[in-house]
Amino acid sequence: MRGFVTLLARNRLALVGLIVIGCVALLALITPLLPLANPNVIDTPNRFQPPFSAGAVLGTDHLGRDLLSRLLWGTRLSLAMGLAAAMIAATIGSAIGIIAGYYGGRTDNVIMRGVDMLMGFPYILLALAIVAALGPGLMNALIAVAAVNVPFFARNIRGITVGIAHKEFVDAARLSGMRNREIILSEVLPNVLPVIVIAMSTTVGWMILETAGLSFLGLGSQPPQADLGSMLGEARSALITHPHTSIVPGAMILVIVMGINLLGDGVRDALDPRLKSGALSRPMPATTVDRHGPVPVAQTDSLLDIAGLRTEFRVRDRVYKAVGGVDLHVERGECLGIIGESGSGKSVTALSVMGLVASPPGVITGGAVHFDGTDLIGAPYEVLRALRGRRVAYIFQDPLATLHPLYRVGDQLIEAIQTHDPLSKEAARTRAIDLLKSVRIPNAESRIDSYPYEMSGGMRQRVGIAMALANDPDVIIADEPTTALDVTVQAQILSVLSDLRRARGLAIIFITHDFGVVGQLCDRVAVMYAGQIVEEGPTEAVLRNPHHPYTSRLIDCVPTLGGGQRKLAAIPGLPPVVDRLPVGCAFAERCDKAEPACRADAIALMPTGAGRKTRCLFPETKQERIV
Ligand code: ADP
Ligand code: MG
Repeated sequence: MRGFVTLLARNRLALVGLIVIGCVALLALITPLLPLANPNVIDTPNRFQPPFSAGAVLGTDHLGRDLLSRLLWGTRLSLAMGLAAAMIAATIGSAIGIIAGYYGGRTDNVIMRGVDMLMGFPYILLALAIVAALGPGLMNALIAVAAVNVPFFARNIRGITVGIAHKEFVDAARLSGMRNREIILSEVLPNVLPVIVIAMSTTVGWMILETAGLSFLGLGSQPPQADLGSMLGEARSALITHPHTSIVPGAMILVIVMGINLLGDGVRDALDPRLKSGALSRPMPATTVDRHGPVPVAQTDSLLDIAGLRTEFRVRDRVYKAVGGVDLHVERGECLGIIGESGSGKSVTALSVMGLVASPPGVITGGAVHFDGTDLIGAPYEVLRALRGRRVAYIFQDPLATLHPLYRVGDQLIEAIQTHDPLSKEAARTRAIDLLKSVRIPNAESRIDSYPYEMSGGMRQRVGIAMALANDPDVIIADEPTTALDVTVQAQILSVLSDLRRARGLAIIFITHDFGVVGQLCDRVAVMYAGQIVEEGPTEAVLRNPHHPYTSRLIDCVPTLGGGQRKLAAIPGLPPVVDRLPVGCAFAERCDKAEPACRADAIALMPTGAGRKTRCLFPETKQERIV
């Protein structure tokens, strides 16, 4: 609830709406207490007094009645009518929608066809027909407006309920022996309530307008009682001669409906979970950079050199330091493995290279990424765009999420090619077929016209690789490309990557949490923990003789075929949460060798000879392992 209020308050327009509606509602509430003239007393000698005349601040109408008094009493009535109509429509409509959506089948069919019939009539015509049948009057206008809005709520809520009624938690409730009525009240209703509130907040304004419309036509409030619609209706004949009689109620309607709509939009934005999670807000084209202090220089003249990279997520008042000072480099044609538990910052490191971390909430706060000599952090978007896919390409974990489900894979490949290379469609198609062949897709000429859903997981990931290769990049960053695949397919994909690397001189950064994969493919490996590199070195040396206790424990988690009935070691505890990192070694809590010194101060990544580095005060000194 507090979150809702802060979200609403952050939306300036909604706040304006809230204040306007608050003032109007307050005025309407205290109207009986104000020293106003009687709104219905006729005083014909003083008819059509202009505003600001003695005794009538807003003037008088065609019967000499005080306009201010009529306006306030009329606003009170119109607001009450609109709100009542909205409540009635929401209650009845939602009940119908929930019942239809929950029970489904014939119940749904019968109810919804009835609703469809109501919806078949033009809106205002239906309201007029209902009032005509019931006779003019305030109550009947209210019923008419509520009735014509019921189908809107019924349709909306039914749609949501159908989705919820088949969710697992509803099945679980049913299995636990709850009755339908209980399930509807305790499981379904709480989940559709936000939608009901959203639908109401966006339609109250309409309903006030509709009741005013009926009164305007003389079918709602009856003389002498004032509401905003009837005031407008009575002023119609004097519109040209005495415009203030129309302007006063007209302006009030405008203010109320504008206020309610602004507030309603704000309520919708604050309550809609998709909007709240930011799923509908588009991230910026490149990650925000907020870099202070001197820019680190490249430490090597490698193709890609990452120095002191820091990336954090600023979510409300929390700061998640996902990447806390990472140094890495990749040579041409080299394969570097990055390994670590889930959440250790591997993906964020990889995405930071091309400014692909979503902003907000991601911010790069330090470090440099030199690609071929130029620093990419803070580079103009055009520069990044020219490099993305062209010289540095990505392969992601889930090929089904990477490929657009509604386009043929060939079209997607051709698009990737044409983005950087103005080839004709035919030439691009030939190239796409070649690419599919190069990732060993059998029968590439016909497979190119398949949709992603017609392919197996392994085939889709090959298409993903082909897409990354489309523009002959220098570096491919593969973020757990085989995690979603089974072991045999994984082996095929790895061999494809390994061959391509040799044939094309590709540099590969291979992110994984599997030491087996690293051992097969990578020349060098960097081990990440809590946003930092804790150990780095040639793959074989690291696997044979890990220096950091974390690496050693990670390797112990890997089962070996024919390794006897060894008990697999799990690492106790959980990785630290990156918004509350300890001062010293982040692994100390889970390390059985930790000393007070480990927790005292930050520990540097120190060279330990033979191209190896370790971030540990007490490196392992075990004898060699057999891998
Ligand atoms: P992995 O090593 O599994 O690829 P990531 O690089 O995806 O891990 O994530 C590193 C850390 O950054 C995690 O602790 C994660 O919770 C955090 N993180 C990632 N994306 C976001 C985000 N959009 N907002 C807040 N925190 C995030
Ligand atoms: Mg990841």
